[in-house]
Amino acid sequence: MEKSTGGTRYDAVVVGAGAAGLACAGDLCAAGLRVLLLESDDAVGGRMRTDRVAGFTVDRGFQVFNTSYPQVKRRLDLKALRLRPFTPGVLVHTESGLLRFTDPSRRPKESRDLLSGRLASGRDLLALSVLSARDALAPASVLRGGADGTTLDALSAAHVSPRLVETFFRPFLSGVFLEDRLETSARFFHLVWRSMVRGTLCLPAGGIGAVPVQLAGRLPQDVLRTGAAVTVVTPEGVALADGREVRSGTVVVATGQRVAARLLPGLRVPDGRTVTTLYHAASRPPLEEPVLVVDSRRRFLNTCVLTAVQPGFSTDGRALVSTSVLGSPGPTDTDAVLRALGEVYGAETADWELVHRVTVTDALPAMPGPMPLSRAVRWAPGRYVCGDHRATGSVQGALASGARAARTVLADLRAGAV
Ligand SMILES: Cc1cc2nc3c(=O)[nH]c(=O)nc-3n(C[C@H](O)[C@H](O)[C@H](O)COP(=O)(O)OP(=O)(O)OC[C@H]3O[C@@H](n4cnc5c(N)ncnc54)[C@H](O)[C@@H]3O)c2cc1C
Repeated sequence: MEKSTGGTRYDAVVVGAGAAGLACAGDLCAAGLRVLLLESDDAVGGRMRTDRVAGFTVDRGFQVFNTSYPQVKRRLDLKALRLRPFTPGVLVHTESGLLRFTDPSRRPKESRDLLSGRLASGRDLLALSVLSARDALAPASVLRGGADGTTLDALSAAHVSPRLVETFFRPFLSGVFLEDRLETSARFFHLVWRSMVRGTLCLPAGGIGAVPVQLAGRLPQDVLRTGAAVTVVTPEGVALADGREVRSGTVVVATGQRVAARLLPGLRVPDGRTVTTLYHAASRPPLEEPVLVVDSRRRFLNTCVLTAVQPGFSTDGRALVSTSVLGSPGPTDTDAVLRALGEVYGAETADWELVHRVTVTDALPAMPGPMPLSRAVRWAPGRYVCGDHRATGSVQGALASGARAARTVLADLRAGAV
């Protein structure tokens, strides 16, 4: 046990209060350690934060909350999040208009577009049924341990036709992986597909930021310090931007991958994926249903009427529409997106007001297959790293990597290795 310059004794310092850092700090506290969680921002959450803009509730980039993630089930009080669900499945805009893609085993009555052959052939239907049944029923360890390649390889191996890949899988998965080449790890695809088939996509009443806020609320008092940017990991602990030092034999770096590589020189990290979300206010909802919409022409990644999911996201009666696009589009591109939305929703969009726009660099780590779904969290004696870039680019990946780092720290402390 060591002393900070302020005289407080910390067994472990965790740097970064996103999902990974919160999970790690929570588990270390639960094991009885004296922990300090340092966050450079003014609040917890990292990539899971929510802002109030002109009376609207807007996440820092559209994301959905999946109730089937094991770490989510284990750690969170779902009732307290006041979740409201999306309709299972998605609407796909095609040349024939909006067609519904849904799991026939889950919502047989609503699978007309699939069963009628308008979206998929009979052979595709069979291929989909086998894919979904396998991914839903096989133990996760089997999916994690399977042969890896790209998602495109996995779809081909599952006998999904190129037509269905282009009309549904590529448009839909581009919004999940934030890349449209379907080069993401096949094993990760199967885990994502499993969570889609088994779980429900939801949004918390307070926005996605309510999730890390709940995790932070469970930490003992005085564990979290916001506005505390770590500049260097030193042999004694960490140095802060304000010049102070905190001493600890155990430091866990739980930042995003870019800062992690700076704080732990030599750490190899993946590239990042960038996404932009446009938030429009519309006098009338262009769609009443709480459903995710994708475009087979891929003029955007996905769109939805957020207020159809959580009516409280607007306070002035207008509908709030979220639309995400890859990268960081310029004004001409965003005008084109608005025109595409008019066509997809069959609505007049000329008077829609762009109330907010957020671009997230490194929204997700790149996960090109083949790739390990889990990377080492022990960096050096007493120095650890966690975050979605050590696992998979997802809330599950971030929480699981934080839990893994905590287990490794505790094992090392017990073994006297620190
Ligand atoms: C737009 C978008 C959409 C997404 N959609 C989904 C989805 O639908 N489903 C899903 O499962 N996942 C989704 N994700 C991914 C998920 O949000 C992330 O995987 C997860 O939040 C990453 O958590 P983390 O703790 O690893 O990293 P982060 O959230 O990045 O946390 C790192 C923390 O470290 C802090 N920090 C950085 N530098 C320092 C420093 N020097 N000192 C102290 N603190 C520092 C940061 O401020 C931050 O709070 C999405 C992400 C984005 C951005």
